[in-house]
Amino acid sequence: MHFFTVNKKILAFTFIIFGIIFSSFNTIKNYTDKYEKVRQRMVRNQIVSRGIKDQKVIQAMLNVKRHLFVPQNYERMAYEDRPLSIGEGQTISQPYIVALMTETLDLKKDMKVLEIGTGSGYQAAILAEIVNKVYTIEIIESLGVKARQLLESLNYDNINFRIGDGYKGWKEHAPFDAIIVTCAPTDIPKPLENQLKEGGKMIIPIGGSITQDLALFEKKNGKLIKKVVAPVRFVPMVRDDGKRY
Ligand code: SAH
Repeated sequence: MHFFTVNKKILAFTFIIFGIIFSSFNTIKNYTDKYEKVRQRMVRNQIVSRGIKDQKVIQAMLNVKRHLFVPQNYERMAYEDRPLSIGEGQTISQPYIVALMTETLDLKKDMKVLEIGTGSGYQAAILAEIVNKVYTIEIIESLGVKARQLLESLNYDNINFRIGDGYKGWKEHAPFDAIIVTCAPTDIPKPLENQLKEGGKMIIPIGGSITQDLALFEKKNGKLIKKVVAPVRFVPMVRDDGKRY
């Protein structure tokens, strides 16, 4: 009889413990996925409806939790149709621009891609969902370190990080199948041109310090062929001393 009562107590205790564990799992799950519906709506209304067709890009935009890449006080705005500030005077691009730039590169799984301007790490995550190897360079150390920590915590093991001046590219790993530049120089950086593989594509905003042309370059017979994609507004590409390229 006595034995039976103890057992009932143990049973009740076990139920309570399991209850706590179960509900905390749910909380974690809700936290990480609480924007799933909002993200699906973003992809439908901002990405697909504007003509993005590459399924790999669409799937990547559905997979990557953009709200983890913006400052916490902007979390609720993460899926809006606009760029957002990420600190240090820098921005995470509007979702549609990320999708558009990624799609123009026509990426395949076995490709090696170089990104200039890691920023929040969001674009790097989108690339890493699609290709085997991503190389990303950020000139502002605090941003580069933060992006690296976040992306590693999300288990991306195919992204290589570097703090430094991306104008110079990443010679040791060149040539690249594709290059994506997310800060705007006045003209195309020569080292990046040299580090692009024959047949490779580079997407880059080029022009003034406020507005630029988003240009797609394709290397054919060693020469770059230019196609203007859209007018855009990117932060400037800067040197170590803060002056604009
Ligand atoms: N791709 C980023 C967008 C970042 S904004 C994202 O998905 O969030 C552009 C970034 O380019 C800024 O973080 C800025 O510091 C960086 N940048 C500017 N000039 C640079 C340079 N010469 N080399 C590397 N990064 C540079």
